Amino acid sequence: MTDAIACRHLSKSYSGVVALDDFSLRAPEGEVTGLVGPSGSGKTTALRLIAGFERPDHGSVEVAGETVVDESTFVPPEQRSVGMVFQDFALFPHMAVGANVAYGLPKGAGRGGRVADVLAMVGLAGMEKRMPHELSGGEQQRVALARALAPSPAVELLDEPFSNLDAPQRERVRREVRGILIEARATAIFVTHDQEEALAVSDVLAVMRDGRVLQTAAPHDLYRKPADRWVARFLGEGEFVAGTVTGGIVDTPLGRFPVDTPLTGPVEVLIRPEHVRLTEDAGGAALVVEREFYGHDQLVTLHIDGGRRLLARAGPDTIFSPGDHARFEITEVVVFEAASSPQPPAPSQTG
Ligand code: ADP
Ligand code: MG
Repeated sequence: MTDAIACRHLSKSYSGVVALDDFSLRAPEGEVTGLVGPSGSGKTTALRLIAGFERPDHGSVEVAGETVVDESTFVPPEQRSVGMVFQDFALFPHMAVGANVAYGLPKGAGRGGRVADVLAMVGLAGMEKRMPHELSGGEQQRVALARALAPSPAVELLDEPFSNLDAPQRERVRREVRGILIEARATAIFVTHDQEEALAVSDVLAVMRDGRVLQTAAPHDLYRKPADRWVARFLGEGEFVAGTVTGGIVDTPLGRFPVDTPLTGPVEVLIRPEHVRLTEDAGGAALVVEREFYGHDQLVTLHIDGGRRLLARAGPDTIFSPGDHARFEITEVVVFEAASSPQPPAPSQTG
């Protein structure tokens, strides 16, 4: 598969603050590459370097096979074939929808047609004359996307595009936007700090921390096989217990489980809530201490052996309430190198 974007060993500091540190990322053509990490992990900086709003201290960026920045090259933003959608939509408030979308298009006969086509693509056919303030937040966001798509850039960069939308709207708009990107066969880099959004929207997902990419994989592979404890914790709920691996079996205080791992000896074991099956049972070993009900399911906090915490996800039909007892069965676990054992040397640390 061809890469629409290839970032290699990018670094960037702002007066001593390291924003990016040996950041490498490839965005395959025609796919949505997610970039997720906590606030301050360098996501926006990465997009700004790709778009050319900023120069890296080191490293290079290729767009559609062409080097747009390295030690001896700097292609200005308007020549990079990169579209951007920002968190705050940034529509021109005094310009109608049609003029907003036409903004980045060369003047010429095909312009009106292209505007009509991309508006239809985002589900706003015939809305050229509307003013931004006459649209809902979700519609404004789709206009911003139409404007970014209009010149057919090699890649769309979306920086937390849904953060200004409220929760129910947000899920709907993100589903629509993913549909639009797929229909347009667009290549996109989608940035968010929300792990659930990242897992839902991305074809490939890169997890960032402190200016670096920790792991890149398809969302389901990342979730099931996180490279380390931090990634595991960032992507979802779960509890860690100590264990010991011998011959493909991990022995823990909560039972023995088969594992697929090259590790042997002491490890840490992650138990995800969806891998704990609960059954109502007054004589069961688990005591329910807390329950959050979400409608489609519930997250139940248990105490085992009078104190060890365990989280379980259960369907909505049997309600587990604090004080209830239940039987539990663990169906799957993930193991990590024990935190106390020596860590492998970090690759090419600077400073
Ligand atoms: P994210 O988008 O993941 O929240 P950013 O890329 O915005 O992270 O920021 C990464 C780090 O770089 C943060 O510590 C931030 O404070 C710092 N930073 C970003 N831009 C600037 C700037 N223009 N001047 C100084 N520090 C900056
Ligand atoms: Mg940001």
